[in-house]
Amino acid sequence: MNQPLRVCMCTPELAPLAKTGGLADAVGGLTRALATAGCDVRVMLPAYSSVDRAAIRAVSIGSAGVDLGPSRVEVDLYEGRLPASPIPVYLIAHEPSFNRPGLYGEHGVDYPDNLRRFTVYGRGVLALLRRTAWSPDVVHCHDWQTALLPVWLRVEPAALPHETSTVLTVHNLAYQGVFDADDLPLTGLGRDLFTPRGIEFWGRVNVLKGGLAFADLLTTVSRQYAAEIQTPEFGCGLDGVLRDRRDDLVGIQNGVDYTVWDPASDVFIPARFTAEDLSGKAACKRHLQEAHGLAVDPAVPVLGLVARLAEQKGVDLLGATADAIIGLGAQLALLGSGDPRYEALFRTLQARYPKRVAVALGFDEPLAHLIVAGADAYLMPSRYEPSGLNQLYSLRYGTVPVVRRTGGLADTIVDATPDALARDVATGFVFDAYTPDAFLEAVKRAVFAFRDAAAWRRLQQAGMRADFSWRVAVPHYLDAYRRAAARRAARR
Ligand code: ADP
Repeated sequence: MNQPLRVCMCTPELAPLAKTGGLADAVGGLTRALATAGCDVRVMLPAYSSVDRAAIRAVSIGSAGVDLGPSRVEVDLYEGRLPASPIPVYLIAHEPSFNRPGLYGEHGVDYPDNLRRFTVYGRGVLALLRRTAWSPDVVHCHDWQTALLPVWLRVEPAALPHETSTVLTVHNLAYQGVFDADDLPLTGLGRDLFTPRGIEFWGRVNVLKGGLAFADLLTTVSRQYAAEIQTPEFGCGLDGVLRDRRDDLVGIQNGVDYTVWDPASDVFIPARFTAEDLSGKAACKRHLQEAHGLAVDPAVPVLGLVARLAEQKGVDLLGATADAIIGLGAQLALLGSGDPRYEALFRTLQARYPKRVAVALGFDEPLAHLIVAGADAYLMPSRYEPSGLNQLYSLRYGTVPVVRRTGGLADTIVDATPDALARDVATGFVFDAYTPDAFLEAVKRAVFAFRDAAAWRRLQQAGMRADFSWRVAVPHYLDAYRRAAARRAARR
């Protein structure tokens, strides 16, 4: 019998254990889907204080010393299982680094020692792999926090006793891990790598750039975003590096974990529903309106938005058009946390329109599900969107997305043009220009369409039928792993 492919997932987030955004859901969903497809997949996660160790039945498997340049620290290692699954999860514990309220920072400010923290994590992963008998075929890294691993695995021949190829997935190119050049020694990497072809970026250390240069294969989370990040407009200064590696860069659309996000089985919502019977959705809407201070009226369209409040999400377009949107007779149900500017905007809107705008600030998983289930339409006017998950969740819940044509939003939502409507393939409302006018026009189209119950029902059902499960993405990742192994073999 063939040996199963051994995949070591190195990630700073993993749903439901540690999450600030879509990355956690994506890695959690992909990991489970790969395991279902027969891979021997194991996850390496920093032991943040928020990780529920009881939920994963974590047990100590010892400790290890790791080098931080000239100094050395001790990490504790734990092994557990992903909730409700046999998939191993390893925790890299180091109290001074990870016993903090945030994953990367607090109140919108990054921890100043993030390079040190994630160097401890990465070196901890290598220490753990050296001491277990398990030797992965591929080390699959996610975002800058893990991007030193492909560099070490290329330039330090003794990093692991066995050959392994590396894949780096970029979930959001805007977050690169940029630090002072003086911090380079922490990583153990030599000055010879501190060049524009290596890890240097305008005189500073850029961890993601190192990973992009040294991983055997690169992936990102939609085809459109893979193309966009090779352009100066979306490349965040790294478009040249990505163009150099365009033959090794693959866009794979993120999937949805329908065991968590499905209105037929969702444990967070007050009533369940399916495409055939949407009565439960009406109950969810009523509950959303009632519990969050909105005027209860099934005829009023509720527009939902759940997001990290960052510039990326296009919240300023909402700010510029909110009065007009309310003027259309719609209600807004908003949940988010992040940039204080946008939190203040949300508060102002709520104060101005108490029965028409519901606002919750903070991170609230049950409320996120309620909004996705109870709203009629879902707003994603993103400036850029590598994959986007909320538009996919919304589709499944019969909540029609209004999105800007960028990244994964462009790849997954079919605009309700007369032609697409006639062919029954339309799933949402798409606009192009990043302007308040273009956004408002799309919202108007949605609110207008909502008034025609039969046509709206067809839009909802087309979205609910769409399949964005991880199963679809798995063959593409397996192919990426094969290509990474071939690249590595070719260098030998
Ligand atoms: P991103 O990864 O850029 O944050 P995505 O749309 O890919 O955007 O994923 C966002 C994920 O994070 C979704 O699961 C969404 O429901 C969740 N999320 C974002 N903000 C919040 C919040 N304040 N409360 C609960 N869930 C949130």
